[in-house]
Amino acid sequence: MGVSEKLDNKKVVIKKTKKRGRGVFAKTRILKGEVIAVFDGPTYDGDFEDWTDDLYYHAIQYGREKWRDSKGIARLINHSCDPNCGIRSLFKVVAMRDIMPGEEVTWDYEMTEKNPYWRMKCHCGTEICRKVIGDYSRMPRSIRKKYGNYISAWLRPRRRASSK
Ligand SMILES: [Zn+2]
Repeated sequence: MGVSEKLDNKKVVIKKTKKRGRGVFAKTRILKGEVIAVFDGPTYDGDFEDWTDDLYYHAIQYGREKWRDSKGIARLINHSCDPNCGIRSLFKVVAMRDIMPGEEVTWDYEMTEKNPYWRMKCHCGTEICRKVIGDYSRMPRSIRKKYGNYISAWLRPRRRASSK
């Protein structure tokens, strides 16, 4: 695995972080709207028997009991409570703003996760860190509003032609 998969952005590199294992960092400036990586790997359902810790912490949730791993670097992108990326449709990690060289690429895992059993202590160190993350239903309303369409399509309320 490395930055060689077709769907991975060529402007990033994998590096060790101080507290959070490996992470993905910008080598050169990345522009708002660029796709960084895509969860394009095998899918899993809610039968956790074959799950490894590695899978548990790196797959993305895309339905009530549906998760997907990546073949490329998507699974290595760390969480932040003040991220520079979000999720488009279900599987694409996309820059929400320009990302400068050297900056770590991050997204907010609560943009996709809705699982009452999963919690993660956050060490993102940002001023607006929520300390424990794990379930979209806990995400403050103001933050949902800020993320808008960068929240996974499966969690966003569907627009309906008629009410009710
Ligand atoms: Zn945090």
